[in-house]
Amino acid sequence: VTEQNLFGTHGVRGIVNKDLTIEVVFNLSRAIGTFLNGGQVVTGYDGRISSSAFQSVTMGGLASTGCDVCDAGQVPTPMVNFLTRDLKAKGGVIITASHNPPEYNGVKFISAGGIDGSEKEAREIERIYSAHSWKNRSWRQMGNVTKNTTGTRKYFDSIKKCVSVASVQSRHLTVAVDPGNGVSVLTTPPLLSELDCRVLTINANIDGTFPGRPSEPRPNTLGGLSKFVVASKADFGVALDGDGDRAVFVDEKGKAHWGDKTFALIIEDYLSTRPGATIVTPISSSKLIKDIIDARNGKIVWTKIGSVSISQGMLKTGSELGGEDNGGVLYGPHMITRDGTMTTALIANIITKTKQSLSTLMAALPAYHIIKDSVPCPNSLKKRVLDLLRERTRKYNPETIDGVKIWFKDESSILMRPSGTEPIFRIFTEAKFAHTAKKLADQYRAMVAEEVKSTG
Ligand code: MG
Repeated sequence: VTEQNLFGTHGVRGIVNKDLTIEVVFNLSRAIGTFLNGGQVVTGYDGRISSSAFQSVTMGGLASTGCDVCDAGQVPTPMVNFLTRDLKAKGGVIITASHNPPEYNGVKFISAGGIDGSEKEAREIERIYSAHSWKNRSWRQMGNVTKNTTGTRKYFDSIKKCVSVASVQSRHLTVAVDPGNGVSVLTTPPLLSELDCRVLTINANIDGTFPGRPSEPRPNTLGGLSKFVVASKADFGVALDGDGDRAVFVDEKGKAHWGDKTFALIIEDYLSTRPGATIVTPISSSKLIKDIIDARNGKIVWTKIGSVSISQGMLKTGSELGGEDNGGVLYGPHMITRDGTMTTALIANIITKTKQSLSTLMAALPAYHIIKDSVPCPNSLKKRVLDLLRERTRKYNPETIDGVKIWFKDESSILMRPSGTEPIFRIFTEAKFAHTAKKLADQYRAMVAEEVKSTG
């Protein structure tokens, strides 16, 4: 963890006791407390081995700067977002590295109102951290630490307000839940039980080594859940990431679907009762999302990639629905933050309302062939290469909010974008037919490689 740009897209992340030591976490919490300048702060931690120790020093650091700490304990990330808003706290801090491999951990800052901290706030906290200009309050002004006990009830009620509880209860759905040994086991199964679902689980013991499957739920790593859904004759399966803010679904036939399809179903349902509403999604989203919104006369707002950009876009436009293809859905009537348990309740509600199976609902969506590809590109050349690609594709009038995105007349599209974390350019191709997608991917991979070579 370097002192400049400490915060990445999702807070501070690093390998435990190599980059992210007890001292780094402690000083960071002092910087966050100094930035907030007193008031109440909610803290929580995920199921990683180091998380409870990191939360302990975080609580001490925050209290030393005069903040009163509300200890939510071991909870999914969305619970800390929720409590921060519900208690009208000044901010929140979560100890989590989300879906990263087990050796990682992280510190995530939550703003007042429960939304993910903005870039501007991150830069200010970094400044205090780098300058070591945190403040120790006097003995009288030390904050106190209290445990929260009422949060879970209120959180479940907030989710239940967004679905037709009696209808879902009368369906008695069978749901297979795979928390991937993460903390979502604390909220997703009990919420489904309250909706009178028959809940079955795999990988449901919290274990920071993630023995069951990689912590990131991707359709290609959910073989265990797929088999489990079929064997248990479940109506659907859901796999969550390590800290429970993202959910990926498996239909009753055992097929796992990317998050953009789930998001499309939620948009369809949402626009059916709120015609003309605005939906926020990153530029990397499938054309499927645009098709669904256009067909129902909704408005689409494109953002940069990353859930913070989506929530900021929702705040700016007054939108109450945002989402991304990795299974993150931000459902405003609950809160403007990703929440895997909320997303699971919405899917149960849609299956109940439409009286259709998840596989039937998924099959009715417009289908695209998607190719995700990359070209090596040193970090130092990324900006120049991006400028050249913009110049070279100007005749197509590309969208340049994040990388270069071109929509072609035949419904195909291409996105070329420098990775924020790796020395590569990502190329995302989509088309109605497999051969068109392959042709486009080949053509634009060659174009990016050519520009990398010409600048290098
Ligand atoms: Mg996560």
